[in-house]
Amino acid sequence: MKSLLILIVMFHSLLAHNYSLESKNIGSAAQCFFGLPEVMDEHNNGNMSNSCFVDMGSSYLVIDSGPTYQYAREAYTKIQKQNKLPISYVIDTHTHDDHWLGNGFYKEKGATVVGSIAFKTLDILERTRMQKRISQEAYKGTQQIIPSIFVDGETILYFEKEKVIITNVHHKAHTNSDLFVYIPGKHILFAGDLVFNGRLPSLRDGDISGWIKILEKIKKMDVEYIVGGHGEKFTKASVDFTFDYLLTLKKEVINALDNGVDIGDAVNDIKMLQYKSIPFYDSIQRQNVETAYRTLEWENE
Ligand SMILES: [Zn+2]
Repeated sequence: MKSLLILIVMFHSLLAHNYSLESKNIGSAAQCFFGLPEVMDEHNNGNMSNSCFVDMGSSYLVIDSGPTYQYAREAYTKIQKQNKLPISYVIDTHTHDDHWLGNGFYKEKGATVVGSIAFKTLDILERTRMQKRISQEAYKGTQQIIPSIFVDGETILYFEKEKVIITNVHHKAHTNSDLFVYIPGKHILFAGDLVFNGRLPSLRDGDISGWIKILEKIKKMDVEYIVGGHGEKFTKASVDFTFDYLLTLKKEVINALDNGVDIGDAVNDIKMLQYKSIPFYDSIQRQNVETAYRTLEWENE
């Protein structure tokens, strides 16, 4: 009987997907698993966004639960080897599915999931984008578990020694569901996809002016570390890449609008070649120009 059980356990672990995750320290403030600068596919199985753990003394706070149930389980297991603590809260920085499909795992572990009020009206899809693009083996066990605490404005979580301030951006920036998480006692801010590094930011669901506006606010905050949703940079200067890209894009699109350039020509002409070598340039630069043009055209009317 015992050997049968061992066989079953072995068989089960053969079926589970291994992401080979390794965490990195953000000073002594947090530990993060940084995703690859790639689109989700059957090789990375969704490991293309960041998931972070903050030791709050008697529990961990998780910022973004990652792309799948199995990813969350692996990240959790690795962090538990360093410090065995329960997970009190999981905070979802926005509704893009590479950031929160691991929620189900943490819910099973007793955590409370927190996210934007926008989750309340989120379409629960029959099959998520993630499910369509990664291997079924890696997706196994994943469910669309939305938050049970909704942030509309500001929500403060109190721990023994410190507090965590979650702010709903409340206007469209990267999406219409962006939050940022500020932990004053640890001098750290988690910006979700308001901050990209190592790949071009995606404006598809966003608003260029709203995004710039919130980054201006974040840049003025007194913090030592800023961790984004993509990319491995975590000093305060990690904001600069996204900020400079959006400012340049906005300037070029406004210039085109002022000169009566139509949208088709703008998409072809606004190349911003200084970004040519950055991952995702070929797939999203034109789309970003188009989205910015449509927003700014309307804004400038
Ligand atoms: Zn996103």
